[in-house]
Amino acid sequence: MSHTAQAVALTCIDFRFRKALHDFFENELNLYAVDHMAIGGGVKQLIENEGELRDFIYKNFDIAVNLHKVNKVILINHQDCGAYGGTAAFQSPEVEITEQEVYLRHAVSAVHAKYPDKQVEAYLALIDSDNNITFKKVI
Ligand SMILES: [Zn+2]
Repeated sequence: MSHTAQAVALTCIDFRFRKALHDFFENELNLYAVDHMAIGGGVKQLIENEGELRDFIYKNFDIAVNLHKVNKVILINHQDCGAYGGTAAFQSPEVEITEQEVYLRHAVSAVHAKYPDKQVEAYLALIDSDNNITFKKVI
């Protein structure tokens, strides 16, 4: 039996974003078949780790690309991520957003270098004091 997916997505594990992420895939991106890979810190593990965790992520991307024939890789980090020390670790929420966008752009470059014929997109999930979640397209 053959089964194909539309995209593979790498996100953080943070439970606060799970439902919003799936709604975002379906309602905003029109993606109904997504290989969703979650790892604490999201792209942090892709760009800061040289070893096993990075290889683990790429092994999963390879499965999505080779077995499920995805044409798109989506990278999503989120505001107030514990792996980066939360929002409190940054001078301001604006600085946090800017720095997260730098991480995401870096990760997009790395993934695109590995899969040059695939689309690679990045979003930052923003969360407000009422836990409302919105998605900002980074690249
Ligand atoms: Zn997180």
